[in-house]
Amino acid sequence: MLKIIQQFLKSESTNPKDLKELDPKCNYWEEWEIILVDCNYFGMDDIAGSYILKSIEGEETKCALIDNTNGRSVPIILNALKKYSIKPENVEYIIVTHIHLDHSSGTSGLLKHCSNATVLVHPRGARHMVDPTRLMESAAKVYGGIDNVQKLYGPVTKISEEKVRSVSDGEIIEFGGRKLQFIHTLGHAKHHVCIHDLHTNSLFSGDNFGIRLPALHKQKHDHEIVWPTSTPIGFDPEEAIKTVVKLQKLQPDRIFLAHYGPIFQIDLVANRLVKALNCYWDMCKQAKEEQIKPKELLQYVHKKMNSWFNEFIRSVVENEEQEQIVMELMKADIELNSQGLVFYILHFM
Ligand SMILES: [Zn+2]
Repeated sequence: MLKIIQQFLKSESTNPKDLKELDPKCNYWEEWEIILVDCNYFGMDDIAGSYILKSIEGEETKCALIDNTNGRSVPIILNALKKYSIKPENVEYIIVTHIHLDHSSGTSGLLKHCSNATVLVHPRGARHMVDPTRLMESAAKVYGGIDNVQKLYGPVTKISEEKVRSVSDGEIIEFGGRKLQFIHTLGHAKHHVCIHDLHTNSLFSGDNFGIRLPALHKQKHDHEIVWPTSTPIGFDPEEAIKTVVKLQKLQPDRIFLAHYGPIFQIDLVANRLVKALNCYWDMCKQAKEEQIKPKELLQYVHKKMNSWFNEFIRSVVENEEQEQIVMELMKADIELNSQGLVFYILHFM
């Protein structure tokens, strides 16, 4: 298990009650009526967030939430709603870009407060939102038991079927003067949707347009330092490239990443992502060509992923000391990315 998660499991702060009084860290873009709530993922800032899209019409402020990190985020998101004078019962939609636990595991907790909300999800994810047993069981294998998963991401409980609605590719859902178009996107996971807010021409990409660490940008003054995430088990490098190009072609003015915040130079970021994804894909092809044995695959890919990240980080930090700090932070990503490529090689190549 990853060191950062082990430390978190041991710490006192896993108790969601500790967060009830917390003043949530938010970014509010008034011109688009979009708020980013920092969900304090495993006790860290600027890693994972939930977006609040406020209504732009109507007498009472309503909203839709996009992604919700985990069960610990529920009090944080509720505090954020309060901060912006939105009643929990005025949450119309709880949208999950995909059902990975770091995006969706706050949903059942939020529904206890947001009594009028409907959950919008990809058709392949809907049944796992209604009954999370299988989702939690597979996470239990990674995190050393169901108790650990509940402690890290929960409480995750069943959701009644009538609260969950599948969205089809291209479907437009209107609320509060906004039009949200849902786009099915392969590459990161088979149950992923991106959301195009047509009113502000903003796109919410979940994990399909890379991830970024705002801490890096303070050093380099380059706000578009991104890399692709290839977590198991649905990653497909070829589809991931197609998705980046597909999203780029929509020509959004900005793309809001779940991890973390908005990016504005869409073409530059798309080029960087395609280049990186091609490197990931090459790692897979090389492993296949060299006929690496299954039990040696993870070590093989991890070595390549590690050196790719090393080179990448060296290009974005200022000195060796920072390089080591960032490399330590990235360990979790390197590990998960490698596992995702191994799964792809073993099952789809
Ligand atoms: Zn994901």
